[in-house]
Amino acid sequence: MKTVLIGAGRSGVGVARLLSQEDMTVTLFNEHPFSEQEELEKLGIKVEITDFSNINTDLYDLVIKAPGIAGFPEAMNEIEIASRLAKDYQLYAISGTNGKTTTTKLLHSMLFKEDNKSLALGNVGYSMSQGVYDHGRESRNIALEISAFQMDGLLETKFKAYALLNLSPDHLDRYPSEKEYYQSKLKMLNHSEFKIVNIDDKNIKALIDPKLDYLSLSIKTKADIYLEDQKVYFKDVELFSVQDLKVPGEHNLLNAMFAASLAYLANVSIEHIREALHEFTGVEHRLEYIRELNGVRYYNDSKATNPESTVVCLKSLEENIHLIAGGFDKKISFDLLKDYDRKIKGIYVFGESARLLKEAFPKALVFETMLEATKKAHENAEPGDVVVLSPACASYDQFKDFEERGIIFKDYIKTL
Ligand code: ADP
Repeated sequence: MKTVLIGAGRSGVGVARLLSQEDMTVTLFNEHPFSEQEELEKLGIKVEITDFSNINTDLYDLVIKAPGIAGFPEAMNEIEIASRLAKDYQLYAISGTNGKTTTTKLLHSMLFKEDNKSLALGNVGYSMSQGVYDHGRESRNIALEISAFQMDGLLETKFKAYALLNLSPDHLDRYPSEKEYYQSKLKMLNHSEFKIVNIDDKNIKALIDPKLDYLSLSIKTKADIYLEDQKVYFKDVELFSVQDLKVPGEHNLLNAMFAASLAYLANVSIEHIREALHEFTGVEHRLEYIRELNGVRYYNDSKATNPESTVVCLKSLEENIHLIAGGFDKKISFDLLKDYDRKIKGIYVFGESARLLKEAFPKALVFETMLEATKKAHENAEPGDVVVLSPACASYDQFKDFEERGIIFKDYIKTL
């Protein structure tokens, strides 16, 4: 069988390694030389460095492309091929516009308590193909994060369960309209034995086929999975209580309800579900709890690279917030944040966008660097207050990326 792989990113390299174990002739195309090239050639993969427009897919029996590459509508993706090869993997898939990584990691920690063979794969940064290559093909439970782009190349893949968290406009650069973007996420409901959908989400509610046999999940009303008196139920089984959760915010409660429901469907014991919830401190850089010092709690939300994400942060935390914000100036307005002025006890701004933030918040204190701003926030915070880095801006003016920014912040907080 002649197979072509398009793109040598993390997923493309993983597929190439995996397919080197199969009886296939595999050619991998990339537009630039890449570091794993020699290794793959040794495994028997033919590597071609050329513009993707030169590829004639008609010459191949099987076409696989990386999710980030546009075009090639006939191509399948790495999840499709990996799931065909690892038939005994049980896939618990998670998709939606926001909260995928958090829910996937939380689900994985629950699955892992029950069975330490389980893995978190897909868009979490560990491709399914690489996972199968590293761990073999024996049966195991997988927490699988799927992005919208990955949906488009899934053909026959079957999930044990599929969770659809939410649908809001995103990636409109890649889809002709919101409708197409939503449809790509909804389509996969038909590929799953169990389907769990968030019926609090108005877009999901409007678009879902009411005849579909799905499990509804809601924080607001009675549903198959619901909240009552601060307890979460799956039908009449109590899964956990809100106070088991350390991570703040209604969005994280929703993520936890999804993860717990999927784990329950995977036969994880209620005890293990609660233990995992209790231990979960969030995903790094996403409203991540760092420590408490003199009654002040410190959080790292460096992933908040736009005002919308900082709004989620401000909604989630209680009052008396000392907010550290600023960074690369994307010329967007910070007016959204003003609605939360009441909860913000102090605001410490830095970087390129400091001036704009000061215009939105006259009470802001202006600093050159993040650490100067953090030092002041720490000095001003009193017992019961919260200090959070939630920049509402990208990091490129002073840092390599949001990860570097978050790590520097956390290291500093740990020295206090
Ligand atoms: P994704 O993997 O879908 O990008 P993440 O779990 O990495 O999502 O979370 C990214 C940001 O999205 C978080 O910092 C938070 O601001 C926001 N978020 C997380 N979960 C939800 C949710 N269920 N609904 C809305 N926003 C969310």
